[in-house]
Amino acid sequence: MGGRKRVYLINTGGTIGMARTADGYAPAQGFLEAQMRRMPELADASMPEFTIHEVAPLLDSSNMTPHNWVQIAQEIHRHYDEYDGFLVLHGTDTMAYTSSALPFILRNTRKPIIVTGSQIPLCEIRSDGRENLITGLLLAAESEIPEVCLFFGDRVLRGCRAVKTSARGFDAFDSPNYPPLGQAGIDIIIHRERLWRPDAGDAWLHEGHLDATSVGALRLFPGIAARVLENMLMPPIQGLVLETFGVGNGPDQHPEFLAVLQRATDRGVVVVNCTQCLRGAVSMGDYATGAALAKAGVISGHDMTTEAALAKLYTLLSSDLSPAEVRRRMGRSACGELTTA
Ligand code: ASP
Repeated sequence: MGGRKRVYLINTGGTIGMARTADGYAPAQGFLEAQMRRMPELADASMPEFTIHEVAPLLDSSNMTPHNWVQIAQEIHRHYDEYDGFLVLHGTDTMAYTSSALPFILRNTRKPIIVTGSQIPLCEIRSDGRENLITGLLLAAESEIPEVCLFFGDRVLRGCRAVKTSARGFDAFDSPNYPPLGQAGIDIIIHRERLWRPDAGDAWLHEGHLDATSVGALRLFPGIAARVLENMLMPPIQGLVLETFGVGNGPDQHPEFLAVLQRATDRGVVVVNCTQCLRGAVSMGDYATGAALAKAGVISGHDMTTEAALAKLYTLLSSDLSPAEVRRRMGRSACGELTTA
């Protein structure tokens, strides 16, 4: 008998472990653990054993930065050999950014890394955190999931495909361009054929300094001034996710706008085209309005989410790679974040 599985639980903050304050919910050190001590079901023999690591300070995830992503990845890597899986408790606001970034920072995991949280804190009677926590722990103990997942409500989503789609619902996340990896209903079902297949070899950490890397995202809107784009593309920016219309279109009757883009891409800024639409991929050859962006040096983000494209830019641009190589790698799947035709 192998004994109970062991899970390393990292509490980064977020609603799940928050306490009521005069200013609304806020993180409180030690509070999550106190709530968990009041959950006898966590000690049930069917649950994995777990160790809790509380990050200090705990954060509302709206305060998270790439530095925090790296800290989480390092913490997992440090304990990688000691545990069967990892559960990251996180605020929902930027959870999809973190779940998108982790697979680019901690590469080639063979163990489940589950990111979850809740819309209502554990200390409240109607908290959705209880189910998310229990099932999250069980999923982290499931050694067949070799990737970073976002688990929320009843769905297991690929982390680098996830987006937050509801500010208040218990089904707050979706992965519109990739089917769920699993479903937690009466049974927990994992769709093995959808899981990422890691390369042979060990998990490894990305070494670059994300903090020293300058990337941005800009959502196009009708009437956007060239000056707005120009400001966005000012040095030291190295990469930009341009959120475009439909299949990747922008204003081709706006020569100054296109000239600003051209000057930036000529300087080596990597501009990635991701659609504002929730579903579907960029195809810059379909319309003249898309072809104009391609001519100005913009590259396709295919069906990547902005969250994933930003994380990928951060990691590639903090590596020692030429802009040409970054552009090439942006178009290839590194951890299942995009589909190419
Ligand atoms: N503001 C909270 C956070 O992201 C929201 C949540 O966790 O649901 O940390």
